[in-house]
Amino acid sequence: MPDRRIRKIVILGGGTAGWMTAAALAKVNSPPQFTLTLIESEEIGTIGVGEATIPTIHWFNRLIDLNEADLLRETQATYKLGIEFVNWNGDGSRYFHPFGRYGGPHDASMFYHRWIRAKLAGATQSHTAYSLTTQAAWASQFAPPSNDPNSILATLGYAYHFDASLYAGFLRRRCEAKGVRRVEGKVTRIAQDPESGFITSLTTHRDELIEGDLFIDCSGLRALLIEGTLHTGFDDWSHWLPCDRALAVPSERVQDPIPHTRSTAHAAGWQWRIPLQHRTGNGMVYSSKFWSDEQAVEALRSHLDSRALAEPRPIRFLAGRRRKAWHKNVVAIGLSSGFLEPLESTSIHLIQSGIAKLLSLFPTRDCYPETAAQFNRVFDADVESVRDFLVLHYHRSVGRAEPMWEYCQHMSLPDAVTDKMAHFTHTGRIVLATDELFKEASWFAVMMGQGLEPTDYNPLVDSISAEENRAHLARIEQQIATALRSLTRHEEYIRRQSRQS
Ligand SMILES: Cc1cc2nc3c(=O)[nH]c(=O)nc-3n(C[C@H](O)[C@H](O)[C@H](O)COP(=O)(O)OP(=O)(O)OC[C@H]3O[C@@H](n4cnc5c(N)ncnc54)[C@H](O)[C@@H]3O)c2cc1C
Repeated sequence: MPDRRIRKIVILGGGTAGWMTAAALAKVNSPPQFTLTLIESEEIGTIGVGEATIPTIHWFNRLIDLNEADLLRETQATYKLGIEFVNWNGDGSRYFHPFGRYGGPHDASMFYHRWIRAKLAGATQSHTAYSLTTQAAWASQFAPPSNDPNSILATLGYAYHFDASLYAGFLRRRCEAKGVRRVEGKVTRIAQDPESGFITSLTTHRDELIEGDLFIDCSGLRALLIEGTLHTGFDDWSHWLPCDRALAVPSERVQDPIPHTRSTAHAAGWQWRIPLQHRTGNGMVYSSKFWSDEQAVEALRSHLDSRALAEPRPIRFLAGRRRKAWHKNVVAIGLSSGFLEPLESTSIHLIQSGIAKLLSLFPTRDCYPETAAQFNRVFDADVESVRDFLVLHYHRSVGRAEPMWEYCQHMSLPDAVTDKMAHFTHTGRIVLATDELFKEASWFAVMMGQGLEPTDYNPLVDSISAEENRAHLARIEQQIATALRSLTRHEEYIRRQSRQS
């Protein structure tokens, strides 16, 4: 039988997607079965943003054996307990999307129903009082989740903020030490097999020819292989997610970094603030239909809370996804596979999701169409569930009256969003498809934060008395208050962890 095993993998692109993919493939390639070559162009550069993550990053760090102390030191990382949304429901409004769970350690989804029941009976305590992660974020305290399932500390959840260019450089050094070959050059020629259409080689402007069996397109928004060569098509979702431009600018560190991202809504977009150890990352995401570039620059500059360290850098994009992220012998990972704006910091997660699916569906040189179709099916479901979560934020901006927000309040919605909102308002339930990325706590936080009011709860909660229900909630509140006092200041925790080896 002829050897159909993949022997040469070529990754085009050395941004976060390229180096994360290289790190994962290098890790599983032991003893070596294939060579790994990564081509990147310094002249083109990387997008250089993408500094906030979500808790699924822990999966990737474990996969490549990346320890936390190294990550904190090498990338100037901070901890992220969630995202604070400011003015999203009208000026002066504020809510928090925590990465941890609500309620006590054993409450699971019944917590929401217990709280709704108490609220409908007149209780005034906000749901945020029952989220240790939210309380810790607002107090700038930190602890990782406890392994003790009976502890309130088990409800905590976290991810990281890091410097995107330091992160890519850090992964690059690790990959090169593991034998990944890096080629510097701009790919100018792409050869395809005349019969199958499979890509066979890439040639750089220096006439260096690199052959491969499998090509990973990490060329960013250019999507040089998957779209530029294989023309797989793009689903434009800008009617649901109208922002199409961004400005990114670093500013000086002003205070001890807080353990959360802040997202502040403006007239035609929103501003991010990501605290790192050595600086603050800032940017404005906006819609060019509703704001000129000058208006966006002005709004960003006037809302920075420290001195800018550079001129705002413009970035253009279109919300949507590639119709086939895997086609023939090309797998698109990262921005080449599509882009959903960074409101919930999901792009790095989608890179990991692409990597995980590639590892489990790792092909032979035949790259059977069924394998690609399976990859595309599961990846699409992932992307669509993230899209729906983002759409909810825009659509439910009921407290804002500017034209862009009014457009979003009246736009037609993906069915899944309408369905989730109806379930929640009528029954207090959060209905999820299998394997949705954002779980109940996330949908609950954003639906409540954006002003959806549940009018009922799971009737099974009535099996306990109203008094018992109130006492249960009071106990959780007490546990959270006590636990909060035991946590460490975020800044101090970073310092301590960075010293570990
Ligand atoms: C405004 C904004 C904010 C974001 N914030 C977040 C966030 O907080 N969290 C998050 O998870 N994600 C975020 N993202 C997404 C995140 O930045 C990207 O997912 C991540 O950086 C991966 O990018 P990439 O590697 O796919 O592309 P890029 O960084 O653009 O890399 C592309 C690579 O391809 C190479 N290349 C292209 N063409 C050629 C060629 N012809 N020859 C050789 N090399 C070539 C380039 O040199 C480069 O190395 C954000 C994105 C934007 C636009």
